Amino acid sequence: MPNILLLGGTTEASTLARLLAAHGTAAVLSYAGRTESPRPQPIPVRVGGFGGVSGLAAYLREHRVTHLVDATHPFAATMSENAVAAARIAGVHLAALTRPAWEPGPGDDWTAAADIAGAVALLPETPRRIMLALGRMHVEVFAARPQHHYLLRFVDAPAQPPALLRHTLVVDRGPFSLDDDTRLLHDHAIDLLVCKNAGGTGAQAKLAAARRLGLPVLMIQRPRLPARTEFQRPEDVLDWIAHAASSGTERGV
Ligand code: NAP
Repeated sequence: MPNILLLGGTTEASTLARLLAAHGTAAVLSYAGRTESPRPQPIPVRVGGFGGVSGLAAYLREHRVTHLVDATHPFAATMSENAVAAARIAGVHLAALTRPAWEPGPGDDWTAAADIAGAVALLPETPRRIMLALGRMHVEVFAARPQHHYLLRFVDAPAQPPALLRHTLVVDRGPFSLDDDTRLLHDHAIDLLVCKNAGGTGAQAKLAAARRLGLPVLMIQRPRLPARTEFQRPEDVLDWIAHAASSGTERGV
């Protein structure tokens, strides 16, 4: 019988958790523990890191996991790399549930940055009012460019105020509508948006708002990940679980 470990922290993981529960498939959802009050889930939840590749491989063996599903955020590269390595060591099936990257459309003014350090380097010299749509782990490198005023929006209030000389912090949890994000960018007189190419619909409104207001966007590209089986629809993961359970598909690939 399939026994799933689902690496979460995304809307897609929550959707898949609901489907697994509806199908009566044994599954545990794993959170890193970054959010103080994650949404209630219909399957058992565990919280916290595993202790690297060896810790995850040990967990997979100990809990007799048959299928590891990586539904982490596209920028959670360490976890995704660890998942590939640990699945191979423990001999369990691995697939990722991912989202297509966002693409610029008519009216968009995007500049690509290779990574967060690249975005810092691409900031203009003259002071700007910048929304950093990055999550609290990644904003402090922008302290290197103290002439700018930064707008931050976090899910939880941080224990320590961000170490940015000039900033405004908004604590709010999405989903945000186009009107919400247009108002936010307008009210804070933002003239540049910096964000990661997360993909999906949950965080897309800010891009539509930037387009509506004619604002430029500095778009941070996704990290490269090892080759793995990937799906974009939670239903396809269910099919894969049924198939990989019966066919003896190569494990850890
Ligand atoms: P990361 O840099 O790839 O992972 C750092 C460490 O956190 C991992 O090595 C692992 O610790 C632990 N970890 C990450 N995801 C985990 C999970 N689902 N269950 C248990 N442990 C996990 O990840 P991150 O970028 O800090 O993201 C952390 C979490 O936030 C992920 O679940 C991700 O889906 C979610 N998230 C991330 C972003 C983003 O932009 N990065 C945005 C939204 C949500 P051990 O090595 O000890 O196992």
